[in-house]
Order: sequence, then structure tokens, then C-alpha cells
Amino acid sequence: MIRAGMDVARINFSHGDHATHARNIELIRQAAAAENAVVAIMGDLQGPKIRLGKVVNEPILLKIGDTLTLTTRTNDPDVAAADKRVFPLPHPEFVRDVRAGHRLLLDDGAIEFKVLTATSTDLVCEVVVEGELRSRKGVSAPESRLTLSALTDKDREDVKFAIENRLDYIAMSFVRSGKDMDELRWLCRYLNADDVALIAKIEKHEAIEAFDDILRASDGIMVARGDLGVETPAEEVPIHQKEIIRRCNEVGKPVITATQMLQSMVTNPRPTRAEASDVANAIFDGSDAVMLSGETASGRFPIIAVETMSNIAVIAERNYDRGARSNRVERALLALGEARQLGSVVGENFAVATSRTASVLADVLSARAIVTTTWTGSTARQVARTRPKTPIFCVTPNETTLQRMALVWGVLPIYVPEFSTIDEMVQSVMRACYDQEIVEFGDVLVLIAGMPFGAGSQANFVKIHRVGEHGEVPQTRIAAAAANAKNS
Ligand code: PEP
Repeated sequence: MIRAGMDVARINFSHGDHATHARNIELIRQAAAAENAVVAIMGDLQGPKIRLGKVVNEPILLKIGDTLTLTTRTNDPDVAAADKRVFPLPHPEFVRDVRAGHRLLLDDGAIEFKVLTATSTDLVCEVVVEGELRSRKGVSAPESRLTLSALTDKDREDVKFAIENRLDYIAMSFVRSGKDMDELRWLCRYLNADDVALIAKIEKHEAIEAFDDILRASDGIMVARGDLGVETPAEEVPIHQKEIIRRCNEVGKPVITATQMLQSMVTNPRPTRAEASDVANAIFDGSDAVMLSGETASGRFPIIAVETMSNIAVIAERNYDRGARSNRVERALLALGEARQLGSVVGENFAVATSRTASVLADVLSARAIVTTTWTGSTARQVARTRPKTPIFCVTPNETTLQRMALVWGVLPIYVPEFSTIDEMVQSVMRACYDQEIVEFGDVLVLIAGMPFGAGSQANFVKIHRVGEHGEVPQTRIAAAAANAKNS
């Protein structure tokens, strides 16, 4: 899957145990090292997922108009008798928040109930959309304002595990507010992990309403379309997707579009045309990453699914706003105009101004790459935010940043030893790029960095550099390149 194009692997804490996850983490790291690839690992917390208890004599066929009771009184003898139509819902904190008139959606919305009466223990419901009721099916209440804790005891154990195993990102499920993200961050700090990168999964209607606050408190966002399509009407998911991505792009935080992207590939080796369009459009919308779930977790064609997604992404990016790119100078001037406008909005935000300028320069000069030297990754994210046509090399001596950059749009992470002067930086960058054979003698690079180098420096330095101009490239290679140039 790494060879096929996987940049980030998700460990889903909704399934499996810590021993299995530890083995998988080790496998991913070994495979990434063998492929000389940077692959980030994201731990995805299960969150307070509400599920039915054990349904006796399942499946129970429910018809429109049937009435039934969901109860927290799981030891009641009626619960064990299927004909009494009383089913266990062992979540008192959930039942407490549901009111008469609210809808309940079960099994990702396949079954729908209307709550007729609600007490502190029982929800008497009428079936609105019929189906077969089975044990452990998920239950959501899109109209209810749930007050249950955002982090379950299991989540807390999983966060500890994620930190101990140095996962690059932790994703939080069913986030409702910025406070939920703050709570997770405090927990990480309490566990002595000060700078873990946190992803908020947007899958609840409350999260849509509180999006700005959640974005402030997060290092990245996931459009978790599976649950979002249950919590809000599925028809509205594309609108939420576009808006969430737009706002993430605005502030330069990575955004992942997830779920059912190549769903038919769980059982088929080819995607549907609609799926190919969905992946491409998520990229046109501005996604940093597109995610597969069941396709690779349990599907029959995991490698082909990654290859397919990667091919769609490459073709989509090649054709990203093609019209505007047909005239490079016009596009550059347009971007410069935008930068001026942006300048008046952002005031003295050097990073925004320099990253936009670096992108314009790279475009005008047909540069091989924009090289961001960064400690925290913030310069690389700012450059990625401008969605340049030129590849972005994120060169960093910080291994944590190196790993995290695998999630960011258009970025190739490259490790270099620490440096302190500009000359050292240029030497170090050239050596690393040369060793990886991603630049050639004579290539133009646009370098961008914050000086003095280190955490806290805004990008305030842009340099145009021709590979080899300061003798930083091994002499043998220069001679070979010169001979080549003469011969051709
Ligand atoms: C989703 O709901 O779309 C999602 C990504 O979450 P999960 O896979 O954990 O259900």
C-alpha cells in the first residue's frame, strides 16, 4: 500500500485490541523504513458511540407503525423476551438527553424511530423507517443535544497507548465543540505529551454549528462523512464538505475527506464513475488527504484501491484549475494581486506574504520545487495553503514534523541534520535533495524559511537558488551533468 501511494495509516480504535494495534504500528514503521518513505500514523478514538445492547432472537423485523421501547433497565425480564418489544440501550447518559418528538437513527440511518414518550430510563418509539433490528447497532439522535462526556474511559486508555507508541496524529470522534478538543489536549498534556497533533472528526450537527471554535482548537480536521450523513441529511453532506474544506484551507490546517470514497471496491476491483468523480472533486474542493476505510481495512482489493485513489488524485491535481494555469504569468500576477489583498487583511503576517510570494516565484520561474525549511511545519503548511503548481519539499531536522508532514497537501518530507546559518541550511538542503535524487544540477529552487531558524520564527526569508551555483553539489556530479549537457 505504501508503494501504491499511502501516506498516512489510520489505526481505528473502534476495532481490535492494543496488542494487535502495536503489531500493526510496528509493521507500518518497518515497511515505511524499507521503502524509504515517510508514513504518518493516526490513532482514531472510538468516542461515545451509542449502541444497542444484546437483542434476543435477532434479527427482529420491525414494520412501519410498530411501537417498541428502548430501555436502560437491561436486567428487566421484559428485555429478554423478544415478543415484549423492549430492547436494551445501556447508555443512561444518552437516554437522559433524548426528548419526545426526537428522531433516532439506527444502523447508519437504515432504521428510523420517532420517540413518542421519554422518561429517564425508557424511550417509547414508533418505527418510521422499517428494517431488521440486530444487537450492537449504532444509535444516533440528530435532534438531541447530548451532554455525555466527549472522552470515554476507553478513549483515555487509547490516548495513553497512542502517546506511548508515538503516533503522529490522534483523531477525536463525535466532537461537538472546541472544548471537547481542549479536553483531549489537556489529557495529552497530563500524559506529558505537549505537542501531539489533534484531528477533529466532524460528524455531528453540533460540530457544524461550532466549527470555527473546533478549528481553533485542532491541528487538522476530518470530514467524517459516514456519521455526518446520519447526523445531518446525506443530501447536505457535500455542502458541509465544501465549507469545511474551504475554512481549513483559509487557515492552512490539513483537512481529510473520508468514508465511502471507493466503497464499491470493497468487493470490486474497479471503482464506479461516481466514486472516481467523488475523489477528484474532494481534491478540487481542496482536501489535503483522501481516506479509505473498509476498502483497505477489510475489502478484497486493498492495494488496487490505494492505487486507484492515488491515480485519481494525480490526474485531478494535474488538471487542478487548468484554465487559470494556461497562462502562467497572468496567473502569477493574479496571485500577486491576491497577496496584496491578503496583505491588507493579514497586516504584518510575514508567513502568509512570503509563502504566497514563494509560490508565485516558483510558478514564474518553472522551479523544480519550493523548499521550505521548517521546525514546526508551519511554513510548509502556509506554502501548501496557496496550492502551488510546484512540488513542496519540507526539509526539517525535527522528526516529529517530518512524520506529520505526510498528511499535508503536495508536501514531500525530507530529513536533514540541524543547521544554524543560511549557508549551512543551503548546503544541508542541497545534500539531502541530491542524495534522494530529486533535484538535478541547474534546477531552480525557491527556498523559504523563518530566520533565525527554530520554533517561533515566521517565514521571513525567500531565496532563489540554482542547484550547483555555490559549489554545494558534489563536483563529480557537476562534471557528469556538464558532460551530459554538452552531449545532448
Ligand atoms: C466516519 O464516520 O466517516 C468516520 C470516518 O468515522 P469511523 O470510520 O470511525 O466511523
